[in-house]
Amino acid sequence: MASRVIPVDPFDLVIFGGTGDLARRKILPGLFRRFQAGQMPDGARIIGAARSELDRAGYQQMIEDAIGEFGGAEKNDAEGLSKFLETLDYTPIDAKGTAGWDTLSSMVRPDVVQAFYFSVAPSLFGDIAARLHSNNIANSKSRIVVEKPFGRDLESAKALNKSLADHFDESQVYRIDHYLGKETVQNLMAVRFGNVLFEPLWNNHYVDHIQITVAETVGVEGRGAYYDRSGAMRDMVQNHLMQLLCLIAMEPPGQFGADEVRDEKLKVIRALQTVEPHHIVRGQYDAGPDGGGYREDAENPKSFTESFIAMKCHINNWRWAGVPFYLRTGKRMKARASEIAVVFKDLGHSIFEGDEKRHRNILAIRLQPNEGMDLQVTIKEPGPGGMRLVDVPLDMTFAEALGDGEHDVSDAYERLIMDVIRGNQTLFMRGDEVEAAWAWTDPLINGWEARNDVPKVYDAGSSGPEDALMLLHRDGRKWREIKG
Ligand code: NAP
Repeated sequence: MASRVIPVDPFDLVIFGGTGDLARRKILPGLFRRFQAGQMPDGARIIGAARSELDRAGYQQMIEDAIGEFGGAEKNDAEGLSKFLETLDYTPIDAKGTAGWDTLSSMVRPDVVQAFYFSVAPSLFGDIAARLHSNNIANSKSRIVVEKPFGRDLESAKALNKSLADHFDESQVYRIDHYLGKETVQNLMAVRFGNVLFEPLWNNHYVDHIQITVAETVGVEGRGAYYDRSGAMRDMVQNHLMQLLCLIAMEPPGQFGADEVRDEKLKVIRALQTVEPHHIVRGQYDAGPDGGGYREDAENPKSFTESFIAMKCHINNWRWAGVPFYLRTGKRMKARASEIAVVFKDLGHSIFEGDEKRHRNILAIRLQPNEGMDLQVTIKEPGPGGMRLVDVPLDMTFAEALGDGEHDVSDAYERLIMDVIRGNQTLFMRGDEVEAAWAWTDPLINGWEARNDVPKVYDAGSSGPEDALMLLHRDGRKWREIKG
């Protein structure tokens, strides 16, 4: 089945930080794929802006090289690539100074959709917002896109929000969490709210517990200094895992509109209980055959920052009272795998004599690898030999279910950028959501800092510290295997 391309209006997309890692690795290769798919209309333009003194041809060359390095199969389309490069322009600019703003002002057209992507350090967000305003470049319909990290605590997030709100309305601000751009995450909402089957079971009467795992095999090498100030809680839980938790736990919105969805997510965050210290396990990876330990990678021999965290959370509302949500994320784990598993309760009574095994329905939503979902169901083991039961997954991997395996499971970034151009904020975090997430996170971090909590060491290439396994064992449960 060919994917359907919904055209967008002509636009000017200015990428501040257009020479940076994110722009070269994700944003521009993603835009090229949208161009190839026919989604970039005639007259659409992409303008890179950074301090580097490049001209248009120099920037086009830089992006050609970047697509060659980071693009997928699409980079072999030489003709398409040369047409795409024609849409690019560049201007040197200093976010903190006056250089370049006049030129940018003359380049951006007031009569098309204007989007400004702040692919720069958050410390520059306020400067850029202010200069877009004072140079009369942005207007009341312009959109701005900002990247994570959105603050490192509630106070800094509030300050960032204010620096944007001074010049832009909330309806113009698109805070990216690329997890929300993943096909599976959106499919989670389709499955929950587009079927009669699941929603009646989606509560504490039928759900035993929920597990959310985001496991990476990479360590912090290369970005150790940044990571050491952040840790897994700030880098992953406060944003990505929190967003996944919200989508799993939220009430059905009245309609699939940006504020309706975000209102429901916000209610979930506000209903999260403070997590007891003994329900949090923090870890740091040890040296392994593939590299050094966390403290070496972070170049901080006394670091207490966690590269792994597991926790048991509760949501204080009628739907989820008594249902634990177990979250875990870590670096240098045994496999790169992210999934959400909704584990349903045991049958109250089995009619099958001699069947001692605990059969459970589990809905597993895989974010990576092989985005997709499967539902574990219990059936009769085929063949003679009596009524023996076996658990099998009903697989619904999108590429297979939707056609020829070529179905466009496109990168989250390109989907989200196109949503910005369309003016659809549903998959972006609202300012109050981000602040509520920090308001929940801050006391937990302050708590372990005040206790001088020392993270547990875990083997690189493992499933994390032993204590994280015990977190579930104590409750008579166990983590699902981390499988790549
Ligand atoms: P980066 O490689 O360091 O790029 C920073 C960009 O900002 C460069 O283009 C740099 O170009 C420009 N810049 C720096 N100071 C400037 C100034 N005063 N005026 C104008 N431009 C300036 O960083 P990055 O990895 O692309 O990350 C960008 C943002 O995305 C950060 O907020 C980061 O946290 C976030 N992010 C990145 C990733 C990723 O995979 N890289 C993932 C998630 C989030 P010049 O030096 O030429 O000015």
